[in-house]
Amino acid sequence: MFGFDPSAANVVPSRYRQVALSTGLQSLDPVWLENHFIGREAYMRTRFIVARCGEETALVEIDRRQSSDLFSPIESARVLATPRQCRYVVARETDCGVASQMAAVALDHQDVSCVVVEGRYSHVSFILNPQPLKLHVLDIVPPFPSKLLDQVQRVLDLAEELPPVVVVPTLIDSRAQLTEACDRLPSRVLVPCRGSGIDLEGVTIDYLDERPQAADWTLLGCERSHQIHRWFYGSSPTTVDICPKRFAGDIGREGGHILTRCCLLQEGIEDSSQATFVPWGASLCEVHDAIETIINRVGVTWTPT
Ligand SMILES: [Zn+2]
Repeated sequence: MFGFDPSAANVVPSRYRQVALSTGLQSLDPVWLENHFIGREAYMRTRFIVARCGEETALVEIDRRQSSDLFSPIESARVLATPRQCRYVVARETDCGVASQMAAVALDHQDVSCVVVEGRYSHVSFILNPQPLKLHVLDIVPPFPSKLLDQVQRVLDLAEELPPVVVVPTLIDSRAQLTEACDRLPSRVLVPCRGSGIDLEGVTIDYLDERPQAADWTLLGCERSHQIHRWFYGSSPTTVDICPKRFAGDIGREGGHILTRCCLLQEGIEDSSQATFVPWGASLCEVHDAIETIINRVGVTWTPT
């Protein structure tokens, strides 16, 4: 008996050893393939065969006779993807055991429903009917690279236990926000810390965490730095607010799922209809939990075999 609906979303083998490679075949015609494989012996772990004829590729699912022997005859076979629906991609950096990495490769081949990947360690596996969750990661730059984007990518690169997620970065340049908010660039700009990595020609930059002498400046920061300013100097400066919260609404309206961060969140994650927030200095664990929270809320279909 075949185990799943071949039109199900995000079919990804949970173990690469379920996938066997058969090269140099005479034909990839579905009837020919079924006849070719039925009756042949298959290894006890084999469930899928990547069938190749020259540069063309088809994906076949097989069913073996129930047996505890190492090898047993194939009793039925069905083609899950014909050569027109299937592409063979060599991507040496891709870990075939991580669904998000498979989905990332498939993004470049959206004209086919099945992408077979020859990846890291020369393992061969596939993703059938990829429908990864598109996760908008919203962050403020500089500094470069965006820390949150980098963390999300590192978490997804190792996420064997998560369904496929691909990242859509939305990076807001705080310097552009400043230019937009002010008719003329202010001569002094106060930013939260030296790590902000801001450099503007003809503008003196002060760093709030160094508690500089009060000056006539414009604060380029989030609500927390505004609060700190009031504590330090007893006054509210002219502020250009660059809290990601401000920008989340625009993406949310397009129906995207947003992961971002906010200076006001101390620990853990905050899940709202607008976006899912992690703290400004989130750990990889918190980033992982936030991604999982979004996946559970959205309900990403995943068909590990
Ligand atoms: Zn904030």
